[in-house]
Amino acid sequence: MLRLYDTASRQVRPLALRQPGQVSIYLCGPTVYGPPHIGHGRATLVYDILRRYLTWSGLTVRLVSNVTDIDDKIIERAARDGVPWQEITSTYEALWFEAMGSIGVERPTDVPHATDYVDQMVAMIEELIAGDHAYVTADGVYLAVETVDGYGLLAGQSLDEMLAGGGEREVFGAGNKRHPADFALWKLSKPGEPAWPASFGDGRPGWHSECVVMSLDLLGEGFDLHCGGQDLRFPHHENERAQAVALGKRFAGHWMHHGFIVDGEGEKMSKSLGNVDSLVELAQQYDPRAYRMLLLQAHYRGPVTVSRDNLDASAKAVARVDGIARRFPHGTAAADESVLDEFRRLMDDDLNTTGAMGLMFDAVTRANAAADAGDQAAAEALAAAVREIARAVGLELHGESAVPAHAQATAQALDQARAAKDFATADRLRGELQADGWTVETTRTGTTLRR
Ligand SMILES: [Zn+2]
Repeated sequence: MLRLYDTASRQVRPLALRQPGQVSIYLCGPTVYGPPHIGHGRATLVYDILRRYLTWSGLTVRLVSNVTDIDDKIIERAARDGVPWQEITSTYEALWFEAMGSIGVERPTDVPHATDYVDQMVAMIEELIAGDHAYVTADGVYLAVETVDGYGLLAGQSLDEMLAGGGEREVFGAGNKRHPADFALWKLSKPGEPAWPASFGDGRPGWHSECVVMSLDLLGEGFDLHCGGQDLRFPHHENERAQAVALGKRFAGHWMHHGFIVDGEGEKMSKSLGNVDSLVELAQQYDPRAYRMLLLQAHYRGPVTVSRDNLDASAKAVARVDGIARRFPHGTAAADESVLDEFRRLMDDDLNTTGAMGLMFDAVTRANAAADAGDQAAAEALAAAVREIARAVGLELHGESAVPAHAQATAQALDQARAAKDFATADRLRGELQADGWTVETTRTGTTLRR
């Protein structure tokens, strides 16, 4: 049974499942107004690793991750570029999934879009107003946090403690609010801005209202796990939770937050990585598996330094594991169970991937040593365990003829583009694969790649 640190209770505790055998997860997704950066890659890789491990363990995982396709930043970007806001969101959403595919992140089970849920958000806000948990002002609708039991649970501070810290405007922003910590559920639109009709005034939803509506709609009350970066803990997650509590609904049972990306040089990421700024550039300049390995070798709650040296070291580590796929290409032996038992024990202990990678590299060494000593049976069993661990954490091994994960992901994106009749994108993706040396065969059932 997986035990995970829970931000709400501040302890490592078992991830309790609402339905046996099924895991329901909500991950706050991107606001699509620019290319995904390297930190976004950590956000998706951490939960891709979790999802694959849970799936490998025999559970059915439903991962819902939204796209925020209406936001002040999108409106600003559209105005700056002089294009409709829908063009900004469709361009950067496509780029998001292309970038995530390039680092081997599987698409979420569901990708709800905020703009498809505005009616439900309006209905929720009406309910909050009717229940005296929200109020209408000259610029929007705000949630009255003082009406919410236990506000500050995720922040780890009561309202009084937050205010005692001072700097109210810096922490909570200005506005026509009754209490500094009250937050916008709805923003009334200014002329020329996108607007949706509502009884309390035409406008657009606040970010915190999107996730609570989409998560409860798709996963239902009391879903198992809500995830995101440490920076989302407060105010975003606190405010999602506050709305659910005010509505009298059971929200997430467990809260998981991952650590930041830091730059060891104290420089801008783009400098220390040799002008790599976006995730797409990282995947082009390094083995895309190196970033996954770098994260696996760290703890998900701690900071990770993304530097050229660290990525190079991780790429070498991946190459060592590839060596097992080449030396033991058949893989029919049963995996060494003692290694897999230890792997499960480590992963179930708050996702100790650092320990799990240590175990895997130890098994690589032992497999090679056993083969050198002529003990082929032991070598094959250890090699099989290495393959299993790699599979469980989503690390695609490159043997003689394997198609690497990033090429498979591009082929999958190509199929999706063709299905959506987006032939410009399909042609571009086909061109990328051909430039990488693949023969691309497109049939009615999908795309296959050959060298
Ligand atoms: Zn969210």
